[in-house]
Amino acid sequence: MSIKKTSGRIKILPDSVSLRIAAGEVIDRPFSIVRELLDNSIDAGASKIDLYITGGGTEHIRVVDNGTGMSLEDMKICYLPYSTSKIGRMEDLDTLTTLGFRGEALSSIAACSRLEIISKLANSPPNKLTVHSSRLISLNRAAGTEGTVIDVSDLFYSIPARKKFLKKPSAEATACKKTLIEKALPFPDISFRFYSDNKLKIFLPAATLKERLLSAYPDLFNPQLIYETYSEHKDYKLRILAGDPALKRKDRRYIQIFLNNRRINEFALVQAVEYGYSAFMPGGNYPVLFLFIDINPALIDFNIHPAKKEARFFNLPEIHHSVVDLIKSFLSTFEYNYKKSMDKYTPSVGFSEFNNMFREKNNLYKADTIQTDKRRNTIIEKIQNSTTINDKTNFNNSKEETREHQIIYMGQLFKLFLLASIDTNFYFIDQHAAHEKILYNELRSKKHRKQDLLIPFLFELEKSKDELFHKNLKEYQNIGISVEKLSDFRWQLISVPELCTGKEDIIVNFIKSQTGSASNLEADLYADIACKSAIKDGDTLDNTTAVNLIQQTMELKNARCPHGRPVWFQVSREELFHFVGRL
Ligand code: ADP
Ligand code: MG
Repeated sequence: MSIKKTSGRIKILPDSVSLRIAAGEVIDRPFSIVRELLDNSIDAGASKIDLYITGGGTEHIRVVDNGTGMSLEDMKICYLPYSTSKIGRMEDLDTLTTLGFRGEALSSIAACSRLEIISKLANSPPNKLTVHSSRLISLNRAAGTEGTVIDVSDLFYSIPARKKFLKKPSAEATACKKTLIEKALPFPDISFRFYSDNKLKIFLPAATLKERLLSAYPDLFNPQLIYETYSEHKDYKLRILAGDPALKRKDRRYIQIFLNNRRINEFALVQAVEYGYSAFMPGGNYPVLFLFIDINPALIDFNIHPAKKEARFFNLPEIHHSVVDLIKSFLSTFEYNYKKSMDKYTPSVGFSEFNNMFREKNNLYKADTIQTDKRRNTIIEKIQNSTTINDKTNFNNSKEETREHQIIYMGQLFKLFLLASIDTNFYFIDQHAAHEKILYNELRSKKHRKQDLLIPFLFELEKSKDELFHKNLKEYQNIGISVEKLSDFRWQLISVPELCTGKEDIIVNFIKSQTGSASNLEADLYADIACKSAIKDGDTLDNTTAVNLIQQTMELKNARCPHGRPVWFQVSREELFHFVGRL
């Protein structure tokens, strides 16, 4: 493969080119336009937003809102790069409450389509703006009601290369619908309508949060099996719509995390949810849980991902902890399963933390005997009579086997070792290695299906890595990783193995780190993912998480991490007695 020789002189790209490159980052498919336009209507304070698409959005997208509208002055510049009314200074990012702030959406959309905006502020006449491929065509008086109507047509007409990556209209329409639902969930006060090819597909009237969830996913959840609860902390609030433990899913699709009203991919928090539920979910089952985090904007940074799908948190471990706590306390009302699992732990005298936890739970049981909470009784009954009863019985049986041990968790040492006495042995368990092995086994135990990525993940390879990758493409494909070549050295990831969504950066780093044959590709990749996703040295674990981890560790057949290090160090009672000459 050869690199084309260019003149070597650096030049600043003309606007016409740079705008199109920038547009590619924010706008790659119709749903990204939908996402940005809905953001803008929400930011404009609309109480009613209607979305229309035709041809899956490739022909036409229209968003109509009744928000504040724009003045003539605003319309003159709204389609230019970095034009935003939302921030003016760097520090404004710390108090930001709007979804938009970079001032790049309208300019990116304008660069790759024909854009028409009619907008009306209260007490002033409406105006209409037309822009084709970033070029101003006209701006004049028009007819219209208060609010804004935005029409985007002929997407990518000026960029045929991008047009090639569009999927079938039906697939694009599905992605738009998914985007609308994600936008609508955290804003139940706003009414949304979605029309595709002139048919009304979704109507979400203003409602409560729980009603919004139920109407967004009609027929999916039994209203009686969804509960709402929340907790407040110094810098943030958590609100959850939590599924009854009887609601079991085979994938993580309905574990969704929203941060300041925006859906994010944050695997650490998805794991927190799974830990919270782990006593109720047999392996391979996942709960339904929608988590809404409302946090002081100064403690997060959304400016690390073009589509704001990821954020940097400054206090992630603390939030992780609070999420587990909130779920645990919610689940503590589900006595039937819970009590069974708690009975198996023996409290140890002298380890106050564990004792406190145990006492707390015991009080709960006492309260149960005189409880008047009808809801709980019906829940218990429901679980006992539910159709998943076989499932549950199996689960209890299988857990029973592993819980014949008497596990006494005694705390964490050097922020790495979980200390536990189990029967007549004492264990020092390396929390990272143990969790790594458990995740690794989970990844390896499954025959993975291929999962298409909603947003392809772009990456570039050096020449030598590019050649190696070329050579091994087939092996990657065999394990569910498919890519498309964009140009020399530039690729995009379009599908990954099922359990690996959200791990695209790890996969790409893995590809970049390869040096030789791909004979052990699958095992190596999963070892890498397990290592990077596992609890780290230094992470503080709450008691339930620690006990769950210990339990799962004890079920490991081969207690060595994927790199071959032992997961624990063990001393028996006899050995200890022997050490002090007591034998
Ligand atoms: P950002 O949302 O990051 O500010 P955009 O490019 O999305 O940047 O929008 C630019 C500006 O145009 C916004 O800051 C806002 O002032 C205005 N605007 C866009 N859409 C609307 C709308 N639907 N209603 C009112 N104003 C809008
Ligand atoms: Mg915006």
